[in-house]
Amino acid sequence: MDRRDFHRRLLGAAGTLALRGVPWQAVPRVDGARITQHLAALGEFGKNPQGGVSRVAYTEADRQGREAVLGWMREADLNPSIDAAGNLVGRRPGRDASLKPLVLGSHIDSVPEGGNYDGDVGSLSAIEVARALAGSNTQLRHPLEVMIFQNEEGGTIGSHAIGTGLGATELDRVSQSGKTIRDGIRFLGGDPDKLASVRRAKGDIAGYLELHIEQGGVLDEAKIPIGVVLGIVGIRHWDVTVVGFANHAGTTPMNRRHDALLVAARCIDMVNRQVRSIPGRQVGTVGRIRVEPGAYNVIPGRVVFGLELRDLEEAKTRELFQAIRGECERISREGGTTISFQESLTIAPALTDPGMRRSIAAAARSLNLKTLALPSGAGHDAQEIARIAPVGMIFIPSVGGISHSPKEFSRPQDIENGANVLLRTLLALDQR
Ligand SMILES: [Zn+2]
Repeated sequence: MDRRDFHRRLLGAAGTLALRGVPWQAVPRVDGARITQHLAALGEFGKNPQGGVSRVAYTEADRQGREAVLGWMREADLNPSIDAAGNLVGRRPGRDASLKPLVLGSHIDSVPEGGNYDGDVGSLSAIEVARALAGSNTQLRHPLEVMIFQNEEGGTIGSHAIGTGLGATELDRVSQSGKTIRDGIRFLGGDPDKLASVRRAKGDIAGYLELHIEQGGVLDEAKIPIGVVLGIVGIRHWDVTVVGFANHAGTTPMNRRHDALLVAARCIDMVNRQVRSIPGRQVGTVGRIRVEPGAYNVIPGRVVFGLELRDLEEAKTRELFQAIRGECERISREGGTTISFQESLTIAPALTDPGMRRSIAAAARSLNLKTLALPSGAGHDAQEIARIAPVGMIFIPSVGGISHSPKEFSRPQDIENGANVLLRTLLALDQR
């Protein structure tokens, strides 16, 4: 490396010259006030008296919110359209038409009685990034696409259509709106018979970036403005069935019982201790239980409880499950019952791209913003796109760690910071 090169790298490391030959001072910035304004305007669609929104996918509020978003996409010169899966897709041409697009995206549908930030922050910031590029006449090498995916909350449906494709079973499933996914796609202006046209293969997308609120309290508590997401955790569910013997609760002595619920209770307590017994950020929960026959005066004969484990590392989840299963079997033997495990859901973890993580951290550094690397415990559209493209995710703090609630809140300054990191990361990826 010659002297000039050395200095350039040194400056790059300090964050003053991270873009090839372009000082950061010359890089466009987003208009934070406009994002806040658009967030408030979008919050009118499906607005609830107690605050927040119910903008469930495929409802009238969802359709109207999407109309507003289409308008903002047009103002950002994104020339948007609705794809066959019902996603809103905008595009800004690049200098080199032979390159695959860089994609920014998120969603604007909400859970019932949700908040104004989950999905909306990333969607409106992606559009604002495109607008900042248009406003400063910045043309990227890569084409840029902004994707607002439909029905994220109902199972990342729109992004699944792009990454993996939707099967007949999924299309026939009845969504929260009461409509099937198939009818919902039609309702939004898509065409469920032409879904093949939206599928992208591995290599069709140069990179995908998503800005999102953390939905947990780690960043807020640590007072760190930018989270660099390591990946979206894998999720595994089991139905655990304990079979004992239902008998008269008055006449069966305490030492002659095969109480399925007592065994289940000991197992549930053990799950919590087992998950906490090893270092790391894995989580384990028993969130549902069914007791049969379910009467005051009958010893429970059969219990089915739902076990969930989440972690970024598949191997760790596997080992944890083996340990839990072994302990459950021991507890069951002691309680005179039998126990069996039926796996009911497996979602593989989706890791973010290490290069993208570095670009996000460098972009944050150039804005003097501290970063923290963390996993995402919630699912996101990025996990679907990760099946076909390198993905990166930026988190901003959720005040109090509250989400899927009318009390969900992220500060305007944090949103603006996140959007500027999104913009700078995009510019850095464009030069790779
Ligand atoms: Zn979301």
